[in-house]
Amino acid sequence: MEKELAIIGGGIAGVSCALYAKRAGITPVVFEKTAIGGQLAYINRVDNYPGIKMGMKGVELLEVLKTSLEELDIEVIGEEVRSVKEEDKKIVISTPAGEYTCSVLVIATGASFRKLEVEGEKELAGKGVSWCAICDGYFFRGKDVAVIGGGNTAVEEAVYLSSLCRKVYLIHRRDKLRAMDYLQKELLERKNIEVVWNSKVRRILGKDFVEKIELEDTKKNTVSTLSVNALFIAIGIEPNTDIFKGLISIDEKGFIITDEEMKASLPFIYACGDCRRRPLRQLITAAAEGAVAALSAYKYIKGSYVSY
Ligand code: NAP
Repeated sequence: MEKELAIIGGGIAGVSCALYAKRAGITPVVFEKTAIGGQLAYINRVDNYPGIKMGMKGVELLEVLKTSLEELDIEVIGEEVRSVKEEDKKIVISTPAGEYTCSVLVIATGASFRKLEVEGEKELAGKGVSWCAICDGYFFRGKDVAVIGGGNTAVEEAVYLSSLCRKVYLIHRRDKLRAMDYLQKELLERKNIEVVWNSKVRRILGKDFVEKIELEDTKKNTVSTLSVNALFIAIGIEPNTDIFKGLISIDEKGFIITDEEMKASLPFIYACGDCRRRPLRQLITAAAEGAVAALSAYKYIKGSYVSY
């Protein structure tokens, strides 16, 4: 089956690309193995996104994206892309259901949650170890929980959990948070959040569910345990780019290298959003990059830019 433009990933970058492409007059198809919306499913409040009500829930914005795709009659293929190769300047995409060929590919595969890589993490995943406070926080209402990390996600999750849980420990490996000031202010206003500085998780302990975590104080070189019922890991993201290694240029951290038109190291492959090397990882930049990728794809297919 030959497609004009294939977009892998249905997060905000991929959806934005599909909408711009369709409106410009080319026919996109979106491959999305789970659900449209990507990381929006895990975002409690969308604050930094002009044009919508501040504090809108991620899932509400996700529904708007789904409706937009339906309104423009954009095809979504619910299959997992397992491999991508180049054949005679065409892209061949393989999924468990078969092969698809396309003229232009836009990669919008986003990123996945980083793992702590400590004992107990894998064993107790889903049994108190979680990467999503919005999804799993409700199960721990009235309980004591810990959040690991010092970025925007960790602080947002700690604040969110503080209205459900008895006590929230925010455990950070340094003595300074990298979260934005307004989030830090919210954090400090919550009486039931305690920040545990300079601490690393060494082990997660529990028989059937998380019971405690072993912490190492990196300044004092001491080890202690903390009793918690759940551990929310919010230590950043890793790009979902493994299947593109060897096909296009990828940096040492796994992010796809593109130019400012979102073009990767092959002229018919573009990348946008969290899978791409970029200075600012926000919804607004992902959506903008999706639009740029769509118009670059248009230029490649038609030989000139569409004028809006
Ligand atoms: P992030 O900004 O990369 O922060 C990751 C945090 O985890 C850092 O504090 C880091 O510590 C810590 N960390 C990393 N590896 C660790 C390890 N192995 N053990 C313990 N701690 C570790 O990730 P994020 O907070 O998920 O945010 C990702 C992107 O989304 C960012 O660009 C962020 O701005 C954006 N975002 C924005 C919003 C918003 O605008 N409201 C909300 C959420 C996310 P160090 O500080 O010591 O490196």
